[in-house]
Amino acid sequence: MFKLSQKLQSLPPYLFLEIDKAKRKARSEGRDIIDLGVGDPDQPTPNYIIEALHQAAQDPSNHRYALDQGMPALRRAIQGWYKRRFNVNLDPETEILPLIGSKEGIAHLPLAFLNQGDYSLAPDPCYPPYKGGTALAGGKLYLMPLLESNAFLPDLKKIPIGIRRKAKLIYINYPNNPTAATAEKDFYKDIVEFALKNKIIVISDLAYSEIAYDGYRPCSFLEARGAKEVGIEFHSLSKTYNMTGWRIGWACGNAKLVSGLAKVKSNIDSGIFLAIQLAGIAALEGPQGHIQQMRTLYQERRDTLIKGLNALGWQTEPPKATFYVWIKVAERMGSIKFAQRLLEKADIIVTPGVGFGKYGEGYIRMALTVSKERLSEAVDRLKKAVRW
Ligand SMILES: *Cc1c(COP(=O)(O)O)cnc(C)c1O
Repeated sequence: MFKLSQKLQSLPPYLFLEIDKAKRKARSEGRDIIDLGVGDPDQPTPNYIIEALHQAAQDPSNHRYALDQGMPALRRAIQGWYKRRFNVNLDPETEILPLIGSKEGIAHLPLAFLNQGDYSLAPDPCYPPYKGGTALAGGKLYLMPLLESNAFLPDLKKIPIGIRRKAKLIYINYPNNPTAATAEKDFYKDIVEFALKNKIIVISDLAYSEIAYDGYRPCSFLEARGAKEVGIEFHSLSKTYNMTGWRIGWACGNAKLVSGLAKVKSNIDSGIFLAIQLAGIAALEGPQGHIQQMRTLYQERRDTLIKGLNALGWQTEPPKATFYVWIKVAERMGSIKFAQRLLEKADIIVTPGVGFGKYGEGYIRMALTVSKERLSEAVDRLKKAVRW
């Protein structure tokens, strides 16, 4: 009775639930856990955005179903933000679609374009919804290993001809979660060329476009010439405005891709709470000064952690973007075992790299979402803990 569908069964067990369980158990034992596992900003949403929600929530006209396509004013705000940030023009009528968080859109897009047995090209390690969305749409996965030797970029030349023919989608994500790698215009140019030649849809995930350091400014896939002919880009207010719990993001790019996704969604959800859309407009059009403050905060944390780890001999590179540090660990010990040891011996939670895919084995991910003081404390604990 009640057997899960084969599609659902085909999904890997969600490692992060296991970690959560271990974390709760440790906390219930009264241990002082330093959680470097979650990619969720610890800082509050800026006040002007909360104020906008507060006001909008009091207006009964905002309590009704929203339009599927999102408010025209929100699409125009996204258009303006995008133009200012990347100097790319988007048509708010046909090339922008607000989402209930970008994860939702990323996971739903394959339903619009994959047929049974079609392939998605997914980086590995990766943000889990690329694989999950493909599996739930009945697609197959071809994994593109992200290796340190190739700067954690996929090697397009290695994708076999037979797979290229059967592939409908390729996922890219820079600045990257979990490796913190970044990509430049040349890479996007190659991707556009590859996609045009093989008739493959490009899905670019730019959730970390604003989380970058030392003055570095990540570019957008859509800045590459011809990108709009082949691709769609996903953006999120979650990391930029500390709004992970609010659930708001958007997709933009090729009009056919945008409308395909909109059609799937019109069968599944009924839009974003209007008050949250109005708060989203406030976020995108309001004072942006807090973003630089946030970068400075993460950058200080990054420097504290990297300095501490390197003093322990861990030889870790400071990331140019994202709030993650991707760290190579002893090869002999699996990353899950390594993470378990850290929890047991030092009360520190990290994410084992293998949780993001098999090519993540041998690495752990630490998130810079706790204070500098706690990061120093984490380093002290590592120093005291047994030798690794
Ligand atoms: C956090 C994150 C997102 C954003 O998710 P939302 O659903 O918009 O909160 C998307 N992609 C990656 C790689 C992320 O890490």
